[in-house]
Amino acid sequence: MLLSDALIADILAEFPSFRIRYKRTSWLQRSIHVALLVLTFGGQRSYLTGYYTVLFGTLWVPAAWDTLPDRDRVILLRHERVHLRQRRRMGDLGITIVYLIPFLPIFLAYGRARIEWEAYTETLRATAELYGIDAARALRPMIVKRFVGADYGWMWPFPKTIHRWFDAAIDDIARRDQ
Ligand SMILES: [Zn+2]
Repeated sequence: MLLSDALIADILAEFPSFRIRYKRTSWLQRSIHVALLVLTFGGQRSYLTGYYTVLFGTLWVPAAWDTLPDRDRVILLRHERVHLRQRRRMGDLGITIVYLIPFLPIFLAYGRARIEWEAYTETLRATAELYGIDAARALRPMIVKRFVGADYGWMWPFPKTIHRWFDAAIDDIARRDQ
């Protein structure tokens, strides 16, 4: 059995309504794509093709999901499972207020940055487990860019903060490894 299939079974046991759907089949997902394109002045143009998004318990995936290697699917699913748990903890309204509404003051979305940081910490943990701690360390530039750039609407445009969070997370993972 593939690791990712086993993980999907676990997620389903925890969240019975969890499902995976293709973004391109959804009118709402296509509309979000257009909204993000406009809100980020064209900076985020890969929402449909390059990003995985959990919304109300469904994981929306790009076509690339089909060819994603098993371990990479696991890493991605572990990140998204954090968002499912956040939704359970905060409720739909709570997570929408913290995540989506701060999208409007687009440059400083601290709530969204904290929510994403919790999930990216899990990305680092999963990467360290499946590919080794050096592979997790190598994610630094990609992750910093996600937070400070247009990908998520410049959600926390202060690289120093993200580098500090990153260092703390890697130290923590390395310590647990020993
Ligand atoms: Zn995320």
